[in-house]
Amino acid sequence: MSKTKEILAQTEKYSASNYHPLNVVLSRGEGVWVWDVDGNKYLDCLAAYSAVNQGHRHPRVLEALIGQTERITLTSRAFHNDRMGEFLKKLCEITGKEKALPMNTGAEAVETAIKAARKWGYKVKGVEEDAAEIITCAGNFHGRTTTIVGFSTEEQYRDGFGPFTPGFVTVPYGDIEALKKAITPDTVAFLFEPLQGEGGVIVPPEGYIKQAAEVCKQKNVLLIADEIQTGLGRTGKMFCCDHEGVVPDTYIVGKALGGGVYPVSGIACDDDIMQVFHPGDHGSTFGGNPLGSAVGLASLNVLIDEKLADRAAELGSYFMEELKKIESPHVDHVRGKGLMIGVVIKESSGAARPFCEKLRDLSVLAKETHHQVIRFAPPLVITKEEIDWALEKIKKVLQ
Ligand SMILES: *Cc1c(COP(=O)(O)O)cnc(C)c1O
Repeated sequence: MSKTKEILAQTEKYSASNYHPLNVVLSRGEGVWVWDVDGNKYLDCLAAYSAVNQGHRHPRVLEALIGQTERITLTSRAFHNDRMGEFLKKLCEITGKEKALPMNTGAEAVETAIKAARKWGYKVKGVEEDAAEIITCAGNFHGRTTTIVGFSTEEQYRDGFGPFTPGFVTVPYGDIEALKKAITPDTVAFLFEPLQGEGGVIVPPEGYIKQAAEVCKQKNVLLIADEIQTGLGRTGKMFCCDHEGVVPDTYIVGKALGGGVYPVSGIACDDDIMQVFHPGDHGSTFGGNPLGSAVGLASLNVLIDEKLADRAAELGSYFMEELKKIESPHVDHVRGKGLMIGVVIKESSGAARPFCEKLRDLSVLAKETHHQVIRFAPPLVITKEEIDWALEKIKKVLQ
């Protein structure tokens, strides 16, 4: 029996089946490349849903991680540590915000943004107690906690997990008129993704984010951008909102903030919002810990020093143009921004998953999202030569 088969059997026996991974067992990674337990090499075109923008085991991120383990790794927030401040300073610099609040996973950061917005609604905007509404978009993905799945429009994400947290309203994504209509005096925030990743790599109509920002400003509603997947260089700018020159009231970041080695997330906003939190209002045992802070700072420095957003812009448009040129009976269209690209498979050609399985057999790892879409989102350190290598294989599978 191959090692792969052995481990798949073990995993099947002991693991919950809350995922449906491709049958490949990875044991090593470097840059854009990963290796399985049987020694096969693959190009990683998923990058852990954009958590590995800096590439697997980036030396500077590893150095920060290992160096910090030799000093201190966890203090809790009962005491100060000497790493959190410089990390948050950098996060504030790149977001242009006055304050940042560190968490660990993306969903926790989304929850943090929701709590901040609600409390801002009551204490600053003057919304009546327990009446606050937050507008969200159809097709959203903001994580998996019980509150967050409650405002998902994906039936499976909700099925069996109710009752859900009230106070959320859904509008169609990309529809500015619907957003305008949904706002009431009790609306405290509009929570959105500037490009829906899990929703199927959906790019909203041009001008949508800018218009949404204007509407929110007019109506004293907070604009909360979930940039967990789109942020930190992925779409060709540091933040996807930058494409429309929009600075949201609150940024939510995660994934690549941990450089692919450690979970680090957080929100950044100005003090008019952040001041709602007083000691005891919110927290996390691991949030802002010295190990995560050292990793977060290094991850941001790598993105900046290696100009990874510019790389994503340049190589992303090359990759997308070349994908569009492929003459395939199966492809409906190609869409995306920067190095976040979706190839939409025609319904008549079946689901996207078998295409991902064929790609795996040719050493390209990509994952379907939303049935019909193959997502290509490699680490941003990918080279043009490596993209050409992937394109060869992709052509074979799609033609
Ligand atoms: C991945 C993701 C999340 C959730 O992050 P976790 O770390 O998995 O909790 C939230 N929002 C968006 C847009 C994401 O892509």
